[in-house]
Amino acid sequence: MARSGVAAALLIMDKGGTPFVSDNRNANDLADQLKILDNNIAYETGGHTDKLLQSDFVILSPGVPATIEIVQKIKSEGIPIFSEIELSSWFCKGKIIAITGSNGKTTTTTLIGEILKNAGLKVEVCGNIGRPFAEVVANISEDGYAVVELSSFQLENIEEFAPHVAMILNLTPDHLDRYDGFDSYKKAKYQIAINQTPSDYLILNAEDRVIASDDIPTSAEKKYFSHIRSLPTGVFQRGGSLVGVAEGKEQNIVETSEIKIPGPHNLQNAAAASLAALLIGIKPEDIADTLKTFPGVEHRMENVGSIAGVNFVNDSKATNVDSVCYALRSLGTPIHLIAGGRDKGGEFAPILKYGKDNIKNIVLIGEAREKMFNRLGKSFAVQFADDMEKAVQKLFELASPGDTILLSPACASFDMYDNFEHRGQVFKDAVAALKNNNELKKSVR
Ligand code: ADP
Repeated sequence: MARSGVAAALLIMDKGGTPFVSDNRNANDLADQLKILDNNIAYETGGHTDKLLQSDFVILSPGVPATIEIVQKIKSEGIPIFSEIELSSWFCKGKIIAITGSNGKTTTTTLIGEILKNAGLKVEVCGNIGRPFAEVVANISEDGYAVVELSSFQLENIEEFAPHVAMILNLTPDHLDRYDGFDSYKKAKYQIAINQTPSDYLILNAEDRVIASDDIPTSAEKKYFSHIRSLPTGVFQRGGSLVGVAEGKEQNIVETSEIKIPGPHNLQNAAAASLAALLIGIKPEDIADTLKTFPGVEHRMENVGSIAGVNFVNDSKATNVDSVCYALRSLGTPIHLIAGGRDKGGEFAPILKYGKDNIKNIVLIGEAREKMFNRLGKSFAVQFADDMEKAVQKLFELASPGDTILLSPACASFDMYDNFEHRGQVFKDAVAALKNNNELKKSVR
């Protein structure tokens, strides 16, 4: 009965079906959702019963692991299981542009949405980004587009879902707490292209070792992007320009220095988004207009101001080690890092490599701090803090003007916060409080 489940139930109701919603949380905890559910929709709370076995098909929320007993029962009864994305796609009249990958999904999805909107197209941005596909699908007309961000979980129960343009940005170990290995995680991601036809496109990162070396099963035409070198087709960087090849013709899109979102990771996101836009016929100059103004998304390398010359950057969304390494590479200043939270089963060692020249201090918070300390404590000056306020305070005392205090946790947030947005907000509040205090001190002096 989370947001996508409620949206799926309402969509089924709207299409003349008879939905039944099941949640293991208590009715008290679901008060808000129950208000949104139509009065005529049947439901159960506080656990999943065999009533579910009377269904023609089951929509499984991405948050529910396939290993729990009721899901096993549903499977053994031969009842089909679909994701909310699959269900919604049955009713989508427009074309679907679907984005997946380990990192950069939300940034790239938002950017594609903005490019399309600014080029005058009708577009709904949805999926993993926080707006269920099922909630918006009715708004999409035949000449419109659904730009859908997809997690690997949402791709697990796909049957006919076939985006016109699909994209896999990159693949690095993530969510290994839920998959039995990198191969099953990869396999879930590759589902994005499984039903595509020869008139569809699959956009891939030419610089991603895993993606470039795997033979991804699809009938779609494969198109590549690169942020570092020339390619025969697709979108790539050459001599400081982002260049695109559309219908055999090479065209300059934009100077990379003019792209507003910073860092090599964002150049990849910009290249991928530009390629998607070119493939549906958007002009390079229209793409450039958006690349020059798009400021990025909250909680992703978000600049949150400076105090006494010390900069603060909120990268709360960096929930895995790979994104932290990109953050470390994007900043050209000495860094004081706040990291930690709930461990997702990854390896922290890459931080040693990318942080060795620029990390000055680390403050660790949350459940994973002992494990992270064991990996990082010998190479860096590491301290523990009990909460975000203390972490910010400690690092501010150590930082010099021109340095950056970076929240880029490499972990999930659920041990201390509701979600990564909440964690990012607590960081921003701590910075604001510090700023107030600092100004007060100055005025007293
Ligand atoms: P996702 O939706 O896949 O989690 P986001 O766009 O929300 O990705 O970005 C999350 C974090 O990942 C950012 O703060 C940044 O540090 C990092 N990141 C963004 N784009 C990329 C990329 N293309 N490759 C690697 N890391 C990236």
